[in-house]
Amino acid sequence: MFKKILIANRGEITCRVIRTARRMGIKTVAVYSDADSRALHVEQADEAYPIGPAPARESYLDIKAVLAAARRGGVDAIHPGYGFLSENAAFAAACTKAGRGFIGPSAAAIRAMGDKATAKALAEKAGVPVVPGYRGERQHATVFATEAARIGYPLLVKAAAGGGGRGSRMVERPNELGVALESARREATAAFGDGRLILEKYLRAPRHIEVQVFGDRFGNLVHLYARDCSSQRRYQKVIEEAPPTAVAPALLRRLYAAALSIARAIKYQNAGTVEFIVERGRFYFIEMNTRLQVEHAVTEMITGIDLVEWQLRVAAGEKLPLRQPQIRARGHAIETRLYAEDPARGFLPSTGRLARLRFPAANAHLRVETGLRQGDIVTEFYDPMIAKLVVSAPDRRIARARLDTALSESRILGVVTNRDFLQRLIAQPAFRRGTVDTAFIGRHLESLALAVSAPDAALAAAVLSRIVSAGPKPGRDGFSPWRLRDGWRQGDDHALDFVFGDHGTRRRVRLRFESNSLQLDFGKRRIPVLAWTLGDRDLGIELGGRHIDASVAWDERGAQVALADGTWRLDAAETNARRGDAVAAAGRIVAPMPGKIAAVHVAKGATVTCGQILLVLEAMKMEHAIAAPGEGVVAEIRCAAGDPVAEGTELLVLVGGKEQA
Ligand code: ADP
Repeated sequence: MFKKILIANRGEITCRVIRTARRMGIKTVAVYSDADSRALHVEQADEAYPIGPAPARESYLDIKAVLAAARRGGVDAIHPGYGFLSENAAFAAACTKAGRGFIGPSAAAIRAMGDKATAKALAEKAGVPVVPGYRGERQHATVFATEAARIGYPLLVKAAAGGGGRGSRMVERPNELGVALESARREATAAFGDGRLILEKYLRAPRHIEVQVFGDRFGNLVHLYARDCSSQRRYQKVIEEAPPTAVAPALLRRLYAAALSIARAIKYQNAGTVEFIVERGRFYFIEMNTRLQVEHAVTEMITGIDLVEWQLRVAAGEKLPLRQPQIRARGHAIETRLYAEDPARGFLPSTGRLARLRFPAANAHLRVETGLRQGDIVTEFYDPMIAKLVVSAPDRRIARARLDTALSESRILGVVTNRDFLQRLIAQPAFRRGTVDTAFIGRHLESLALAVSAPDAALAAAVLSRIVSAGPKPGRDGFSPWRLRDGWRQGDDHALDFVFGDHGTRRRVRLRFESNSLQLDFGKRRIPVLAWTLGDRDLGIELGGRHIDASVAWDERGAQVALADGTWRLDAAETNARRGDAVAAAGRIVAPMPGKIAAVHVAKGATVTCGQILLVLEAMKMEHAIAAPGEGVVAEIRCAAGDPVAEGTELLVLVGGKEQA
């Protein structure tokens, strides 16, 4: 067995590989870019070496730099993780040439499957059906138009070198083909340095079913059952489960056989996944991933096999630990990917510092896989996945319920996440029935990504987080002003007013301090409250006799509140206005993410109203309007159109406006 390995990756997958290596008594070496010098994967490895600047091309994708680190660490082998260099045949070959084992398949197998066109030709030769389409060398628009007419619409344009849904475009009608080809080629060239495209008949509502395979150098080849990854947004998986429940056992057996015949055709070694789409009892090969998948954990949960351990054993020259009849699957497992992204804005990645990162404690049927800790930054340089939650249970119904609980106990503040979206998705009747197809999310996007206004509990949490300090739950008999942290002074009227901006509406809350109790006024409703801190940014609240576990983080815009069933942004329009204290709008307006100033809409000295657009920031190829958080006067403008700005750069200074009546 290897004594020391390098993991040529970052984040959760590096941490996950380290865990198994440790258990097996193997030392680990991590690599990191300038953006990751304090990352969790660096902390967890026995040794770590810097490999270059933040952009992946200059670090995690730099074969020379990775191999230099391997040399310095004196490792026996290299695990590529997923993404980055994991499916790069030149890298696999370079590792071998440098005398280090590659913990994955042969360079030839990677090459054979690295191109969707050749992979499909290979599958056909192995007798496995593929989706009808065009995968020729000729890439002229007129050729595509002729081929498209032959295949028939709707169709899917894909990057031949594709992955992660990049370069994929659905085309409904002939007149949309030209634009789709152009943008797919642009995206494919940017992402893979290879603009070649293929065409495929588009199936409207297939399921994505994939088979985990494993081979060793002695020609042993097994499957470890299948996963259903039909919950996808933009052709990318967000929930994966095993076993697939909506596919007949007989069809699943045909998929296992098809997967094995493809793997056998390329003498496959190590872990691999053969992907299919399945519709109306028919199946089609779409691609093979020659690496460990993000979703491998669900297979581990139902088989009890550590796939990374198998990878290490097989790469070190051992035989597969089990033969096919010895591999059993039990129960059901579901994985969900928590991303820093905004479902309401087309799943645009969100960046920022994780002001709060809280997950339920892992146990025998819950795995929490993450490479981040509270306080870490989600940058624009890498995949915005924050964590994977993986649950297992005796059956799917219980697994779904456990996932639901795990999601409601997860609190992520500081970036926008897809947590609420996932909660809604798994609550859908179709998800409960297990009938979600790959286009389901797209068809129901509006309701799944719906922005709902903040409930009383969220407003209460924002308000109460301003006044409670650490300490035990206050007794029912009294509220002590000594617990107050800020915002409150002994006065005559014993009340504080808060006004929050919530999806364009103003929400008013009055916090009343009575002789021995606290009350919140929501308009005409008055509700008694108790509040106590639960530690780091978490708050216990009793609102109208109901207990609420809330997490709150404040930033220059206002509060972000996460409860069990949702996350809300509450802009601090004005607080304390009634007392005539400083209006919250006064302050620094900073860039919410790195980008370029596209426009400045106000001049120095201007009086602005709450919600008025001050500036427009262009970031991640989209424009973002920056609005005034409250009334105020523009005291200073610290940027101009065209300026590149870093996240947190002060753009404008607003001074307090009028009192709110
Ligand atoms: P990538 O390599 O970019 O991930 P894949 O070929 O693996 O692309 O396909 C990704 C997803 O796109 C599939 O899981 C499926 O949901 C969808 N898809 C792929 N091919 C088709 C098709 N012919 N018709 C409908 N959906 C498809």
